[in-house]
Amino acid sequence: MSKSPEEEHPQKALGWAARDSSGVLSPFPFSRRENSNEDVTIKILYCGVCHSDLHSCKNDWGVSTYPLVPGHEIVGVVTKVGKAVTKFKVDDKVGVGVMVSSCKNCNCCKEDLENYCPKMIFTYNSINHDGTKTYGGYSDMIVVDQHYVLHFPDNLPLDAGAPLLCAGITVYSPMKYYGMTEAGKHLGVAGLGGLGHVAVKIGKAMGLKVTVISTSPKKESEAINRLGADSFLVSTDPAKLKAAMGTMDYIIDTVSAVHSLLPLLSLLKVNGKLITLGLPEKPLELPIFPLVLGRRLVGGSDVGGIKETQEMLEFCAKHNIVADIELIKMEQINTAMERLAKSDVRYRFVIDVSNSKL
Ligand code: NAP
Ligand code: ZN
Repeated sequence: MSKSPEEEHPQKALGWAARDSSGVLSPFPFSRRENSNEDVTIKILYCGVCHSDLHSCKNDWGVSTYPLVPGHEIVGVVTKVGKAVTKFKVDDKVGVGVMVSSCKNCNCCKEDLENYCPKMIFTYNSINHDGTKTYGGYSDMIVVDQHYVLHFPDNLPLDAGAPLLCAGITVYSPMKYYGMTEAGKHLGVAGLGGLGHVAVKIGKAMGLKVTVISTSPKKESEAINRLGADSFLVSTDPAKLKAAMGTMDYIIDTVSAVHSLLPLLSLLKVNGKLITLGLPEKPLELPIFPLVLGRRLVGGSDVGGIKETQEMLEFCAKHNIVADIELIKMEQINTAMERLAKSDVRYRFVIDVSNSKL
């Protein structure tokens, strides 16, 4: 018989887990592997609440196994290093994002695209090399191979910086890869949530003109005055959409639910690019006419590799980019998840793990 999550490893850990697809989280005592030669043990201080955590808790994608401890926007401090660890020392401030391992041998791994390695191991809801489950950052500590750990820049706040580990890299990577960084070009950002609001800030830092495309008119003044967007388009207002048709060079689509791509494609210029990052539980319809007639492109992108994640952190440190956060205690996570489901967060919940009751 396999051992219980509390007994399978020597290091004791406390977290909060969803037990079934109701998604309700509750305290969960478990354990972490002993720190091996290549590992660092991290005391978790903060963890961002990504919409992927909500999708996973609710089993939106049909792949969740319970108990499920979410969390992949982790910031903490190193408490232990293995003998072969050269990248970090005890007391270093570090981050962990969406993955904790990969094969290190395939073409993707060799090209610093570990995020596309077929054997990549997710920070939670995955299976470790030793056959045990991975549990994420809604917990007090984690053990991670040094390769997948990031140096957290000194000048960034640990709490507001945490969301960069997923939201930050998820929007930064496609902007680089798809060539969406030419200063003066016009970027649309669909969905002003965790990913979207960081996309606005990174887009502005790259010198782009940024328009938010949102279903929430009440976010307009903040989008412009606080986040720095140049303009705001309510996607449910046909007249406004019509007036903006054919004006955008690129769109980053962060919408978490099933939605129509047609209005977004119509906003693009000829040769425009629509990059979809959201992961709704059902497929989207792809309108072919605006693609073909305008030589437009639809692409996707999944977080980013470790090297690029470090580069993104340095970029954000240089430009003072962090998330706008609502800091919560773990005890408030279920209410926070309910609000996240209603797009009612400004603009990322971050859990103050070390001051929470676990
Ligand atoms: P979020 O904070 O909930 O933001 C999503 C935004 O989408 C909402 O704030 C809302 O913005 C808009 N929205 C929600 N429901 C909508 C609907 N029915 N129609 C139109 N717009 C709607 O979520 P997030 O953490 O940014 O994540 C967004 C999506 O990206 C999720 O599906 C997540 O799983 C996925 N994700 C993907 C990657 C990747 O690597 N590709 C990484 C992380 C997350 P407005 O109020 O402005 O309309
Ligand atoms: Zn995420």
